[in-house]
Amino acid sequence: MEHSTPLITTIVGGLALAYLLGMLAQRLKISPLVGYLAAGVLAGPFTPGFVADTTLAPELAEIGVILLMFGVGLHFSLKDLLAVKAIAIPGAIAQIAVATLLGLGLSMLFGWSVFTGIVFGLCLSTASTVVLLRALEERQLIESQRGQIAIGWLIVEDLAMVLALVLLPAAAGIMDSNEASFGELAMSLGWTIGKVVAFIVIMIVIGRKVIPWILSRTASTGSRELFTLAVLALALGIAYAAVAIFDASFALGAFFAGMVLNESELSHRAAQDTLPLRDAFAVLFFVSVGMLFDPVVLLEQPLGILAVLGIIIIGKSAAALVLVRLFGHSRRTALTISVSLAQIGEFAFILAGMGLALGVMDKDAQNLVLAGAIVSIMLNPVLFSLLDKYLEKTETIEEQLLEETLEEETQIPVDICGHAVIVGYGRVGGMLADKLRRREIPLVVIEDTRARFEELAENGFCAILGNGASKDILSLARIECAKSLLLTIPNGYEAGEIVATAKELNPDITVVVRAHYDDEVSFIKERGADHIIIGEHEIAKSITTLMCNDVAEFGCTIPEDNDGNNGEGKNLDEYLKPSH
Ligand code: AMP
Repeated sequence: MEHSTPLITTIVGGLALAYLLGMLAQRLKISPLVGYLAAGVLAGPFTPGFVADTTLAPELAEIGVILLMFGVGLHFSLKDLLAVKAIAIPGAIAQIAVATLLGLGLSMLFGWSVFTGIVFGLCLSTASTVVLLRALEERQLIESQRGQIAIGWLIVEDLAMVLALVLLPAAAGIMDSNEASFGELAMSLGWTIGKVVAFIVIMIVIGRKVIPWILSRTASTGSRELFTLAVLALALGIAYAAVAIFDASFALGAFFAGMVLNESELSHRAAQDTLPLRDAFAVLFFVSVGMLFDPVVLLEQPLGILAVLGIIIIGKSAAALVLVRLFGHSRRTALTISVSLAQIGEFAFILAGMGLALGVMDKDAQNLVLAGAIVSIMLNPVLFSLLDKYLEKTETIEEQLLEETLEEETQIPVDICGHAVIVGYGRVGGMLADKLRRREIPLVVIEDTRARFEELAENGFCAILGNGASKDILSLARIECAKSLLLTIPNGYEAGEIVATAKELNPDITVVVRAHYDDEVSFIKERGADHIIIGEHEIAKSITTLMCNDVAEFGCTIPEDNDGNNGEGKNLDEYLKPSH
């Protein structure tokens, strides 16, 4: 069975083990990410029992990288990217240089050649896209200034790694037997840069027009399935083309595919549609990383691993910290960026694998890189919580407030009580907010996309940027003394979680929830919602009212229902019966 269906076995085994160990980790109050990595170790070839396919798993992980970077691109405009270039470009280059030099220094101690040392150092220099994005997402930092600098930095690191991967075989050839000349090396460097630039230009000039057009044409068919398919085909297809034709990376390709959609009205729907797949494949990323890990290495080379971790966690972070501070950013921004980059991931695996294949690195060096990556990924959530504690202890209230206003803009708890809180400022929340304001009802709106948050602020609403599912964000909206909570977001399950948190903070609050599907209703009800409005039912009611009350020629004579609504239940059925 395992041999005949390796793909299914790997996906099912990976997801099921990740779920079990992720739940266990959650129970133990540690990051589920550690559970996913442990699942990978269990599913890997170095532990007894079930072994997933070690060549398929990294490919599945790449799909996770593509979907995550696509999602980031959807939130990131070209303007945002250019806004952070002044710090991200020198920052990333300097950090790569520091990590490479430290790696080189360490390899000298091991007695390796200079070239091996450089490749080893490069392996330690680039942070993992998935780990960084997950960490920022968990803390709702993707759209904060700190988050944007970290993402810009990551993109520059990505570009540098693309060049390193292209140059490595050529450089190894020169080192080995003068097979290639420096001229050829320069040529291949120029050619690669040219292709990557061509890809970016094509995406910005042509993709920016064509991709939103394709999506809007697909949306106009009214088929949800085709729309989701279009989004996936575009994200995966462009990422693939970026690698196959332009020699860029999957991550860069997907990022630009998302970014050209950023200004389109449909970007939000595209993000929503890819969310579940994105989460599932991101989990498979961690499983595939865990699979590479041979726990015996921890016993065989403990000092080497400690030194590598020192470079990844302390050396790289110190470099980033100094640089960001030199650019005049606050301590909090500098520390957040340092911590988010204090790990290594997919590029390290690829580069080390290539180094091994070219005979530049030996198995010991590769093992050190792998162990460094896995342990640094496991430690990353711990570093983040230490950072939170450290900041809490050392920042004065004034400093915190200043930071909040500087970085998260108006993220100061609102000074209001007895108010209504709306979560989501889209098609539903937007109309609702306007109506409530006209009736002079005190109001706070929570919205998780920056563009809409800015629109709210421009329209003079009291607004909070963030995810309504977060306790902290609900507290900023003073949920504990609010009168009502109106959840206008389209995802009923997410809304259900928000209801539970809100009721925990304020059991007396009246909660009204938007839903679309019957199966969401019981989930939301169980969590304590007071009223659930199913969008589709309201549309049916309005259409019936229109036919029966307002459009005389229909000649509709449906009597009023007891609850005062026209045309529901049996009467509606009668009315809608086809007439022959
Ligand atoms: P619509 O479906 O057009 O009514 O839009 C829903 C709005 O809710 C969008 O603007 C989303 O950005 C926003 N939204 C969705 N989920 C959340 C959430 N968990 N917290 C805050 N805003 C959200």
